[in-house]
Amino acid sequence: MSHCIDLRRALHRHPEAGFTEFFSTSLAATELSRQGWTLHLGQELYETARLGVPEQPVLEAALERARAAGADPVHLERMAGGYTGLIATMQRETGPTVTLRFDLDCVEVQEDLDVPWKSLTPGLMHACGHDGHTAVGIELARRLSELPWTGRVNLVFQPAEEGVRGGSIFSQSSLLQGTDYFLSGHLGITNDAEDTLYSTVSHSMNTSKWDLTIKGESVHATLYPRQGINALLAAADLVVELYRLPDNDQTQLNVGTLTAGTGRNVVAGEAKLRAETRGSSRESHDRLNQAFGETCREMERRHGVRISQTLAGEAIYSPPHPELCALAAGQAEAAGLRSEPKPYPMMGSEDAFYFIDRVHREGGQGAYFIFGTAIRAPHHNPMFDFNEAILEKMVSFYTALTRELLSALRR
Ligand SMILES: [Zn+2]
Ligand SMILES: [Zn+2]
Repeated sequence: MSHCIDLRRALHRHPEAGFTEFFSTSLAATELSRQGWTLHLGQELYETARLGVPEQPVLEAALERARAAGADPVHLERMAGGYTGLIATMQRETGPTVTLRFDLDCVEVQEDLDVPWKSLTPGLMHACGHDGHTAVGIELARRLSELPWTGRVNLVFQPAEEGVRGGSIFSQSSLLQGTDYFLSGHLGITNDAEDTLYSTVSHSMNTSKWDLTIKGESVHATLYPRQGINALLAAADLVVELYRLPDNDQTQLNVGTLTAGTGRNVVAGEAKLRAETRGSSRESHDRLNQAFGETCREMERRHGVRISQTLAGEAIYSPPHPELCALAAGQAEAAGLRSEPKPYPMMGSEDAFYFIDRVHREGGQGAYFIFGTAIRAPHHNPMFDFNEAILEKMVSFYTALTRELLSALRR
């Protein structure tokens, strides 16, 4: 069995949710430091504010699990407080700069698979394949460290892709300045295209994640029915009004959770809900977000409640660079992949597009790939698994493409 599959299974056993990727970061850091990469981790990677950071007890429990699993205490110290993730750099003489990004985090799902590398942490599972992405990044690092090339390579191991919280922060890192080429991708996604490289993603949703707290006032439900302010009623009204907002197939909205109230005979004083908006264009998404805010204000007037609205994550779509996509397609066959010329319309959201957006604004080229392979169940399902044979092919593909770009001096 290849080292890459070994790594993937070790990561699968120790799944970690966004901003708690202590074990995963430490594993990558340990492997890459042996290979001669310069490591950057901890607070220096966080040049802008974080969204959706877990509560302190969640961070501490995850840190303890990582320690028990054998993570390097020096790495853990630097990540305390949830400053997870890693950027590794290698510079050899002069030449182009290539940045590759791999996501680290798992999903909050209880695993139902019965495999020897099953998740050891209840309620957490690598149900999206990011364990595979991280393993590919580590193996690519080893391969590149052993091969000749000149220029600079940045390997980004990004936290918190789920809930789209880490991409915006890591894409802005000053370490990535001067990136000529940016590469990232996802395995699986489509089940009918084994060993297929989609070199162009034509579509991905802009999204915002919202946490809402609705404050009313509790009183006895029947003694003073007119004196309380019913946060539950306001929340229910708000949910109904929100679902009226998407007015065409360009926008989507979902309210995923709603909790309210403390007792049967008490007017509910507080309600909390978690919602998300999506739009296929930035304009339609901005309009939806504006209407979302206006609806909250309207509910404040209608019910007398106060509503606080906090952004908990966001992602954009930025089209990949056609020239880079075409060059990538040419590398597929040698890596054992069949190149699919049709662009892939990704219906979810993905925060890698922040990197592409930045690189394009700074004059470089960026691309995002789909590596089609057999999946056992849909992404985020408790039975999710994928054909591990794709990992070796992804490593070969990224290695060949990176070296091609480094030797190209295209700009
Ligand atoms: Zn996912
Ligand atoms: Zn994913």
